[in-house]
Amino acid sequence: MGSVSVRSVSKDYVLGRTLVRALHEVSLEVERSEFIAIAGPSGSGKSTLLNLVSAIDSPTSGEVLIDGVSLQSLDDNGLSDLRSEKIGFIFQTFNLIPVLSAYENVEFPLLFKRRGGGIAASRVKEVLARVGLEDFMHHRPDELSGGQRQRVAVARALVTDPLIVLADEPTANLDSETGQAVIDLMLEINRSAGTTFIFSTHDPSVMAHARRVVRLVDGRIVGS
Ligand code: ADP
Ligand code: MG
Repeated sequence: MGSVSVRSVSKDYVLGRTLVRALHEVSLEVERSEFIAIAGPSGSGKSTLLNLVSAIDSPTSGEVLIDGVSLQSLDDNGLSDLRSEKIGFIFQTFNLIPVLSAYENVEFPLLFKRRGGGIAASRVKEVLARVGLEDFMHHRPDELSGGQRQRVAVARALVTDPLIVLADEPTANLDSETGQAVIDLMLEINRSAGTTFIFSTHDPSVMAHARRVVRLVDGRIVGS
């Protein structure tokens, strides 16, 4: 559990009358508990690829499988169940809800779990402690530093205990030291919980910490 299979996936965007092919027949196998970086310059298709794996968007052709289940075979309910049970997502710009406290932001994904779970205060606190923010749970995002905000976002991605965490340039808005601390935190969770991490970056110092780097150029994988 926690594997991802991308099979010959292409993604086209239509912009007015032009067609932008963001991904060209990309194939990628990610095994459970991998810690893998998708590296590439801006516009190379990193966000598109992560959005397809998280079922935020669907491919023009090809398919994505999570633990052997094709996302293309699921209806909307099936996709939202799969997303809330198996996947956590960390965004480049944190995407926290400004009016909610750190605690409430982390609790948020639990409100959408259709099956089981429920809202366990102990779980929210445990995850906040995991990212070192137990003393900041009543702070709103604007009362936190960039690194602390991204830690809240990491906690929010982990609260549902996902098998797979996808992180789209999680360090891009952080200084290098703070970015390094976020990568270290992700590595530590990967080691201790066996969570699969797939993250994108264009920063060579971040790539250096991945166990495997897949390079994207103009929507194609160029060696790995
Ligand atoms: P990256 O995350 O590596 O910067 P993206 O996946 O965001 O790359 O974009 C890949 C290509 O697809 C770019 O040429 C981008 O302009 C285009 N693109 C991305 N999203 C859209 C969209 N919603 N509509 C049109 N073109 C898009
Ligand atoms: Mg991007």
